[in-house]
Amino acid sequence: MEFVLFCSRINVLVLLFALFSPFKFIQSPMDFGPLNFLQPTNTSSLDFGRIFFNSPFAVLRPQTPKEISLLLTVLSSPSFSKVTVSARGAGHSINGQAQAINGIVIEMDSMASSIKIHRKIDGLSYADVSGGTLWIELLKESLKEGLAPRSWTDYLYLTIGGTLSNGGISGQTFKYGPQISNVLQLDVVTGTGQHVTCSSFQSPDLFHAVLGGLGQFGIITSARILLEDAPLKVKWVRAFYNNFQIFIKDQELLISIADMVDYVEGFMVLNEQSLHGAFVSFPTNLDFIPQFHADSSTVYYCIEFAVSYHLRMESNVDQVVEDISRQLSFMPSFIYNVEVSYFDFLNRVRMEEMSLRSRGLWDVSHPWLNLFVPKSGITEFRDLLLESISPSTFEGPILVYPILKDKWNSNTSAVLPETDSDGVIYTVGILRSANPNGCSPQCLDAILQQNRYIAETTTGKRIGAKQYLSHYSQEHQWRQHFGRKWDRFLARKFEFDPLNILAPGQGIFNRKYSKNPTVQIQ
Ligand code: FAD
Repeated sequence: MEFVLFCSRINVLVLLFALFSPFKFIQSPMDFGPLNFLQPTNTSSLDFGRIFFNSPFAVLRPQTPKEISLLLTVLSSPSFSKVTVSARGAGHSINGQAQAINGIVIEMDSMASSIKIHRKIDGLSYADVSGGTLWIELLKESLKEGLAPRSWTDYLYLTIGGTLSNGGISGQTFKYGPQISNVLQLDVVTGTGQHVTCSSFQSPDLFHAVLGGLGQFGIITSARILLEDAPLKVKWVRAFYNNFQIFIKDQELLISIADMVDYVEGFMVLNEQSLHGAFVSFPTNLDFIPQFHADSSTVYYCIEFAVSYHLRMESNVDQVVEDISRQLSFMPSFIYNVEVSYFDFLNRVRMEEMSLRSRGLWDVSHPWLNLFVPKSGITEFRDLLLESISPSTFEGPILVYPILKDKWNSNTSAVLPETDSDGVIYTVGILRSANPNGCSPQCLDAILQQNRYIAETTTGKRIGAKQYLSHYSQEHQWRQHFGRKWDRFLARKFEFDPLNILAPGQGIFNRKYSKNPTVQIQ
């Protein structure tokens, strides 16, 4: 049974008493009489992936961090030995990571989104933001002050707490690091109910554990995000390639000139549909006509980079783009550039979302697979990928772009592959949609099996890739994933969530009945 409770201190206690009372008197939300209940909703068992649908037995909509703290304090007592808790941000996970089967889901959007911008003339500007706030809301608010965060995800309707629990990557990552490298401080409620303010200087172990920590160590109720002066607009460039080696060589060139370039990504063009899908948000007259062959042997690649009007004179930006373009080896004449506002540039995926929604193709299953691939294995990875999928019918983008390992703090919980000395890693997003009109449940299963094959093969020793937004269900897989970081991850879990109450949807730990270091996998 699922119900939703608008929470107050009293309500948390009533909820807990009611749920665990031996009299089992909760039959429906209405049985609570005068208390303020909503009818059950599906959202807590639904995510963007639409692959897992695990129902909690309760949904909590707290209004203050204190209520989360109270809930976790009470759940740490032996009387509540089976209950797990999952924070839910925007629910844009793929594999049920924000779900809590038979546990309690805390919907973070219930706490009024609070954004306070601090502009410093002689120091760092930053924003204090509640954990359930969407990045788009922070962008809108900070732009009013002429400021903006430096590091982004491609899509902005994700929460601060959700992306900081993973990493938060996009075309700015090569330059500024992921979003978890751009946080100054966090307020966290740990698995034992303690409400702690932490940073690199104050409770640094908790701070670093939570960043990229898959929700395992605490619930982020607030984050202090670094801001910079926002550019007004950007010059956004796309250039086509028909040779993978030249494509990656040029991408690596672009990330080596970070003083000139502000954003670098790239994607594979496998068929007509993937080409047009990628150009929904890019306002240009595209005269590139790819020649795809029936045997799927032809694949194109597209680099995109951007140069911001960041205190640079307008004419200067054109000159910078020209200087950069001269160094690249794209297919002659197939380069396009547009000038867009900074807001529209950052919010570009929203336009794709709207287009997909209008065709009923947004609320479908998304068997996505994201990986970090060391530069040394990227060509083998590409070959394996193209052998495994069917390029002519593939639906959805495949992103491929380089980032630099030295922009990540190795004290955080995020996991990256080993690299060569230059520290270049490729992020690969195989972002497939399973359109129910063309893809039956069997077809979705087949895609998931393909993903497993690609993930298993490429995370082996030879290529040495690591999953991003990882999905595993067995202990040995998580151990292999974390590698040398596993023991530290385990020690931190024991310190901050010793009973394994938090984020059960990640499938790493089983709820414990008492403080004992044994690891159990669901
Ligand atoms: P949820 O799915 O709600 O939660 C994810 C995990 O974080 C769960 O384990 C949950 O328990 C935990 N969690 C949520 N809130 C908190 C909190 N406040 N405190 C502690 N733990 C919490 N990622 C990128 O890095 N770059 C991209 O460009 C990118 N683009 C995307 C585009 C789309 C269309 C989608 C659907 C996803 C994209 N993602 C991208 C992935 C996205 O960053 C992750 O799925 C992220 O977890 C989603 O945030 P959310 O708020 O929906 O989190």
